[in-house]
Amino acid sequence: MGSFPFGPGDFRVEFTEEQEVFRRTVERFAEESLRPRVREVEAADSLPRDLLEAAASLGLTGVGIPQDYGGQGGGFKELALMSEEISRVLPAFATVLLVNRLFVDPLMLFGTEEQRRRYLPPIASGEAFAAHANTEPGAGSDVAGISTRAERSGSGWVINGRKMFISSADRARFFIVSARTSPPEPGRRWWGLTTFIVERDAPGLSVGRRIEVMGLMGERPHEVILENVEVPDSSVVGRVGEGFKVVVTTYDYSRILVAAQAVGIAQGALEAALSYSVQRQAFGKPIAHFEGVSFRLAEMLGEVSAARLLTYWAAGMAESRNPNFVLAASIAKYYATEVAVRVARDAITIHGGAGVDRDALVERYLRDAMITTIYEGANDVQRLTIAKSLLRALSAPGGPSIERSPRRSLSPAERYD
Ligand SMILES: Cc1cc2nc3c(=O)[nH]c(=O)nc-3n(C[C@H](O)[C@H](O)[C@H](O)COP(=O)(O)OP(=O)(O)OC[C@H]3O[C@@H](n4cnc5c(N)ncnc54)[C@H](O)[C@@H]3O)c2cc1C
Repeated sequence: MGSFPFGPGDFRVEFTEEQEVFRRTVERFAEESLRPRVREVEAADSLPRDLLEAAASLGLTGVGIPQDYGGQGGGFKELALMSEEISRVLPAFATVLLVNRLFVDPLMLFGTEEQRRRYLPPIASGEAFAAHANTEPGAGSDVAGISTRAERSGSGWVINGRKMFISSADRARFFIVSARTSPPEPGRRWWGLTTFIVERDAPGLSVGRRIEVMGLMGERPHEVILENVEVPDSSVVGRVGEGFKVVVTTYDYSRILVAAQAVGIAQGALEAALSYSVQRQAFGKPIAHFEGVSFRLAEMLGEVSAARLLTYWAAGMAESRNPNFVLAASIAKYYATEVAVRVARDAITIHGGAGVDRDALVERYLRDAMITTIYEGANDVQRLTIAKSLLRALSAPGGPSIERSPRRSLSPAERYD
């Protein structure tokens, strides 16, 4: 079967000189502006506004947004590098930029020109932040199971419902909201959802309870409540009834950036463990001189490197619009986030008691890494996507190959429904 399900040509990871210059710029920002504030963010559990302004003035809020809409341009490789370098120091900060993508991508992929012109420039400049309100108390992975409703009213819609775990809700000016506009049809549960743009000051939209999740201190998700929120027809993103496709396709792309976030967390944990292991003395020598510690460090590096390669590979595939990028993104997401958990746990082990002392800022890597295994599609749902693609490719006419599959990638409905 050769390299089934991918061809050897699919495995390419290349960066330009400009991309490396960009990576170093973000690394410098993370080291010089974010690193000195990590302790403050962890203690206050909030992201200082001036840091977001500093990122905006460097152009980081505009990365991945075309220049026509006020952005810096760049694609998924730049976004992945940015997510990784920021997360190596302060992962919660990367979450804010990633969540902007959950608004930007639906508009870029499905929105109208008018929507892009109105909403993307203020996000690119950092003047406004965005949020993505899909998850509900009763439905997360099961996107088709949401119960928020939007009903026709004159030339617009009235939305009612409650959203849960919405990142950046407290700072967002614009929200993407998913709602059911018609009941699910037999055999087509996914049909009948619609995505809307809702502005923060729309009467009836309120930000509710702050949810005290275990990690990503500084970026707390909130509940978002929609009570008779009226929106015009022009706020529909994509086609009425096809919101499932908008939501799920958006995650196909953004989950690469969560993989990159996990690579950054793992890299940060590895570097902390390495530097501690050469300073800490036990039994008369640095603990790095014990084989048990040095072999652990070697394996941490191996796993971080593999996760990084998978992530860059998925980002490259997304950028070249290779239809198999969806599969690559799921592989990168589950693998990189689980590497981050393992490497963070090993970093704690290498630090001994200091590893669980919150003051040492090491245990935070594990708390942050755990969240990456859940959001943007829980890892078992990634395994489901991978398994379905694999089994379908195996049964392709003419033998096992994604190339010979009737369509090259599974549709969102085939993957989740
Ligand atoms: C910090 C944080 C920030 C978040 N930010 C946002 C946001 O900005 N916007 C937003 O809309 N949502 C957000 N979420 C929600 C997040 O996307 C969901 O938590 C996630 O998709 C999982 O959904 P759930 O929590 O309802 O878990 P469930 O869907 O109930 O799943 C629970 C577990 O069941 C298993 N499972 C479920 N379905 C399957 C299946 N088909 N096959 C195999 N196993 C399965 C998995 O192990 C899964 O972990 C955020 C969550 C967190 C923790």
